[in-house]
Amino acid sequence: MRCVAAVSEWRVKLVGRPKDVSCPSVVKTQVIDTGLCCRCMACMAACPAAVRTGVGFDFEERKHVCVDCEICVRVCPRLDYKPLSGIGSYIKAVAGRSKRFKGQDGAMVTEILMSAMEMGIIDRCIFVGRDEDWRTEILHVRDVEQLEVPTLTGTKYTFAAAVPALREAVLNTKVGVGFVGTPCMVSGVRRLQKELAVFRRKVKLVIGLFCTENFYWDELTEFLKERGVDIKKLVKTDITKGKFIATMTDDVVEFPVKELSAIMPSGCRVCTDFSAVESDVSVGSVGSKPGFSTVLVREENAKEVLDFIREHGYADFDEVSLEFVERLCNLKKKREANIK
Ligand SMILES: Cc1cc2nc3c(=O)[nH]c(=O)nc-3n(C[C@H](O)[C@H](O)[C@H](O)COP(=O)(O)OP(=O)(O)OC[C@H]3O[C@@H](n4cnc5c(N)ncnc54)[C@H](O)[C@@H]3O)c2cc1C
Repeated sequence: MRCVAAVSEWRVKLVGRPKDVSCPSVVKTQVIDTGLCCRCMACMAACPAAVRTGVGFDFEERKHVCVDCEICVRVCPRLDYKPLSGIGSYIKAVAGRSKRFKGQDGAMVTEILMSAMEMGIIDRCIFVGRDEDWRTEILHVRDVEQLEVPTLTGTKYTFAAAVPALREAVLNTKVGVGFVGTPCMVSGVRRLQKELAVFRRKVKLVIGLFCTENFYWDELTEFLKERGVDIKKLVKTDITKGKFIATMTDDVVEFPVKELSAIMPSGCRVCTDFSAVESDVSVGSVGSKPGFSTVLVREENAKEVLDFIREHGYADFDEVSLEFVERLCNLKKKREANIK
């Protein structure tokens, strides 16, 4: 779905660079080939040639569409990479459990997005769903009834193309868009907002997920199959207390998450941002009792949504144990230092 009228909003100053070095090749040689890429896909979301032609951003095919505007270079959070870390600043920390939705933990991500929609702050948001083989799928949610698809909520421990989907959303929204993603995706979105006015104006709420690492779909499914997981029977995956837990319809397979280190992508190895410090509100599992989500409210826009949820009685609230969140923040930093 491409909104031609709104494409004119994609103003990128052309910088007249030498034609012998295309901008995607800068990203390729300095970020992808060096193993720094976090696969946030902000470069793809920003490419104006991809917007105008409808042709996807492709490092191999770029000669056909690239207009050498350098936007892919400017929005890449891993070029000139300055790793973020720690718990970051926040206004309030609570544990929450939605009374309306079911999710990975307390479904607070879903509750925050749906409440923001009810408040009229946003008219759409992007969810990462999955198919029966657990390949991630993107859905633009504009109505609460779309959440009847049970696989939409919950965590998929594989990369998802949510940031490129944000491009379509900002071009089509009348009100604003809500985004949820891992810390690196949040950093990509912040770069897009810095460089392109349409993202600045239209992205109204950014939810960051706590994250230790993410995986490539083919590598993770292969690994799980070797451990006896029948992917088609898989209903939930969790990483909790150092264990990866694969829950199937008729069995549960558990193993230490450390065993996945062989397939941890290089872009995750260099990352030290556990808590998504650049988000408006961060949500994770650690720090709350089972069935609750830990919510770190960082910005006023998110605080208004949390106040709305409380006023409407849409969620139960409880205390959080931030020392566990701090511990995970420190562990991620230590891990990166040990890998170096
Ligand atoms: C790769 C990954 C690693 C994580 N690691 C940790 C961790 O180490 N410790 C911890 O405490 N929490 C971690 N989390 C967060 C945790 O798993 C839950 O997502 C979080 O607690 C929110 O739960 P909820 O019930 O409120 O979310 P729900 O209401 O179930 O909503 C989940 C949201 O996550 C989105 N989502 C699912 N998969 C992805 C994906 N691959 N990329 C982007 N968005 C996605 C969905 O679109 C949905 O909006 C991780 C999440 C991901 C995606």
